[in-house]
Amino acid sequence: GKIIFNGDLKSRSEVKVDIEDRGYQFGDGVYEVIRVYNGELFTEDMHLNRLIDSAKLIQMKVPFTIAEIKNRMKELIAENQLKDGIVYMQLTRGVSARTHSFPTAEVEPAFVAYTKEMPYTGKMKPGVNAVTTDDIRWLRCNIKSLNLLGNIMAKQQAVEAGCDEAIQHRDGTVTEGSSSNVSIVVDGQLKTHPATNLILNGITRQVMLKLCADHGIPYVEEAFTVEDMMAADEVLYTSTSVEVTPIINIDGQSIAAGEPGPITQRLQKLFSEEIEKQCGS
Ligand code: PMP
Repeated sequence: GKIIFNGDLKSRSEVKVDIEDRGYQFGDGVYEVIRVYNGELFTEDMHLNRLIDSAKLIQMKVPFTIAEIKNRMKELIAENQLKDGIVYMQLTRGVSARTHSFPTAEVEPAFVAYTKEMPYTGKMKPGVNAVTTDDIRWLRCNIKSLNLLGNIMAKQQAVEAGCDEAIQHRDGTVTEGSSSNVSIVVDGQLKTHPATNLILNGITRQVMLKLCADHGIPYVEEAFTVEDMMAADEVLYTSTSVEVTPIINIDGQSIAAGEPGPITQRLQKLFSEEIEKQCGS
């Protein structure tokens, strides 16, 4: 397959990472993952706007316009004949002799994008198990930074417990999953952490909240505790790769009856209709 390296389509084997790329040395960069359904990008404008916002928050320039990136992504998808999958892209502060402070202005950021196949499994995904863990991350989780050590450590705990996701909390207040946003349903109302500096404002989360608003599902952007979550009627998590997925067991304890709840199932259905509407898959 082909990849994009600084604006050019290349074979993957042609491209080598410089040992002094700041992404490699410091995690000094930002990234995005955009889903492709039926050969079409899904919610790409929201993702690309977030990429620009993340870059701005770390004072990094973006050497392309959104329209340019979008066209490049479409070329890449066509070239790789991707039907269902993802585009991964990252932008680092470029290649420069190692020192913590930013390189001089003439150093151009380095951009890489590639595709990966990921089948679309349809609307109803079975419930998964999760663990809770301390959120040990920094206080700018709203930036989609390449620095993911806290997230990695959390996910590894989930995997070692035979679970799909780790739900992070700060002093008992749930923030988000290791690579997802978490919501609960109590008495028919969906509750999810507000889009502050403590979470990544997930695009899937935003699409889901819009679906709630459009379809009369009550919701509130309000933090909740681990205790609230364990006692909730439903728990679900959202991300570009898991879409809307029920969580039915946390730390070995069933959530309610231990099966996907009605609001979660309704949101899964609405989400799959949104995919169909936008991508016709
Ligand atoms: N939070 C974190 C920490 C994530 O890594 C992700 C996935 N990239 C999300 C939330 C979900 O974001 P999105 O719905 O945009 O994929």
